[in-house]
Amino acid sequence: MRFRSPDAFTGSAQSYRLLPLRFRRLPWDRDRVFVSSLAGDWLMMRRDAFEQFVNHALDVHDPLLADLQARHLAMVDPQRSTFAPLLSQYRTRKSYLFGGPALHIFVVSLRCHHTCNYCQVSRQQTSATAFDLNADSARLAVERLFEWPSHELTIEFQGGEPLLNFDQVRVITEQIVARNVFEKRALRFVLASTLHDLTDMQLAFFQEHRFKLSTSLDGPEWLHNANRPRPERDSYRRTVEGMARGRRVLGDDAVSALTTLTRRSLEAPEAIIDEYRKLGLHSISLRPLSPYGFAAKTRERNGYSTAAYLAFYRQALEHLLAVNRSGYVMDETFASLLLSQLLGPFGHGYVDLRSPTGGGFGAVIYDYDGRVYPSDEARMLAAMGDTSFALGHVGQPVSDWLASPAMERLMAAGVAESLPTCSDCAYVPMCGADPIEHYARQGDAIGHRPSSDFCQRQMGMFDLLLQRYESADTTDRRVLESWAFGTAGSHQAEDTLDAAA
Ligand code: SF4
Repeated sequence: MRFRSPDAFTGSAQSYRLLPLRFRRLPWDRDRVFVSSLAGDWLMMRRDAFEQFVNHALDVHDPLLADLQARHLAMVDPQRSTFAPLLSQYRTRKSYLFGGPALHIFVVSLRCHHTCNYCQVSRQQTSATAFDLNADSARLAVERLFEWPSHELTIEFQGGEPLLNFDQVRVITEQIVARNVFEKRALRFVLASTLHDLTDMQLAFFQEHRFKLSTSLDGPEWLHNANRPRPERDSYRRTVEGMARGRRVLGDDAVSALTTLTRRSLEAPEAIIDEYRKLGLHSISLRPLSPYGFAAKTRERNGYSTAAYLAFYRQALEHLLAVNRSGYVMDETFASLLLSQLLGPFGHGYVDLRSPTGGGFGAVIYDYDGRVYPSDEARMLAAMGDTSFALGHVGQPVSDWLASPAMERLMAAGVAESLPTCSDCAYVPMCGADPIEHYARQGDAIGHRPSSDFCQRQMGMFDLLLQRYESADTTDRRVLESWAFGTAGSHQAEDTLDAAA
């Protein structure tokens, strides 16, 4: 959007200057607009007042102008003001860029007991040990890990089922801990597992190294077992038992669960949330199906539209607020993340919602065969035969990966502020770029936002949360704010949100 007012740009004691801004007419109230600054400060205002503002027709003593100035949308008396507060706010929001990738995922095996038809990782039979990470690749991956500059390193073990190659989990952890005596990084270990077959010996090891356990729980027994078939139809029982054992030894906060939503799940938002409450969990993640792996092959059967997902989410959000009103604290991690972006000034650790993209800039995946990817989704694409986003091999130095064509593609399509449609979108300071998802779904890393599921989901979620926050009474508003500022539930690490088994 361009505005003409030469006087305003030169500035005088009685004028004001517009700072870069974007706006969106509110879909639920066409007479008002959401206006955001470069750094993500925002306010909602009447459309006629907005038009007055951008046409430099507001009186400089109008209290609205003071509000706009406080949110870095205007500069009153430009000759005596600076851009420093805006730039400082921008820097704070993008602070995740300074350290380089902090999330490092080691895929120690593709083997798994389950035969989930929406599986995102193309699992292998439990006897197929050829799909285990071998000792040489593991050693090299540990060397590469310490080539990255991040002071904080989250090391996540994933599969398939990582416990089927527990020996490698143990060896890698011990190598990292030994090397860290000199490196002195802040380490955090996570295991994404079904937690079936968890042994006392494994639990003692996880306790010694302060592991967090992340598992998948899709809801009540009928739903979980339908989504995650095993020949014995006992997936739910084994997961719940594994969680209970993990919590007894490692503590309640050390075990978290994520849902995967199939078409069947969309009919049961309340039942899924009530199941989490029944099990004493204070955090739930209602994530839609990924377009990768077996999920891509079974989309007809399990898939659903973004509109159906958003309708489900709206119902789930109301139920979650009711649960909180009843006195049981529970947050939803995706809403918490978006609310933290809307209501707070800080950046976040969630790699799937960053600009520049978190792929390669926030996370690195070391696959079972020694190949390296910028995200779990890039690995899944490679498992489907497309290696466009493969960075290289653990035998190469990190500098080679950074110079790879895959990294070039990510940089070219990974800055939301420069993408068509996003560059004009009022939500872009709080949103992110996902070139790999757009490539997977649309065949083009830059993508086409008007027909993008990613964009529809983001836009829909921001609209829903803003509208709900605005209409909330004091109690509901406090609940939503507690989600935003991390004082609700047992927040699992944001950077592991999409990485559970
Ligand atoms: S993806 Fe959609 S919601 Fe997000 S910034 Fe781009 S246009 Fe806006």
